[in-house]
Amino acid sequence: MVLRVPLTLTLVVRYIDVTHQARVDTMDSERRIEHWNARWMIVAGRVVCTSCIESQALMDCERQFSHARECDADAEDAPPWITLHSILDAARG
Ligand SMILES: [Zn+2]
Repeated sequence: MVLRVPLTLTLVVRYIDVTHQARVDTMDSERRIEHWNARWMIVAGRVVCTSCIESQALMDCERQFSHARECDADAEDAPPWITLHSILDAARG
């Protein structure tokens, strides 16, 4: 037996699916931006490590961030400007 689902019900389910996914994406973006915000700040157009206060200009965004030797931040992290850009891009959808 073929179960026929009315079109309106299908559309409602699809709508719930899409809005739920958007909410999940937003939550994920918020979590990522909070995480980024805990590690970095932007001061006078430069991204600054909150652990060692070393900074990097936007024009150097593709270079590896250079932390102070005693910094406990993970040096293997993706460049902070690139990460911020990707978070904002994802949040915009
Ligand atoms: Zn650092």
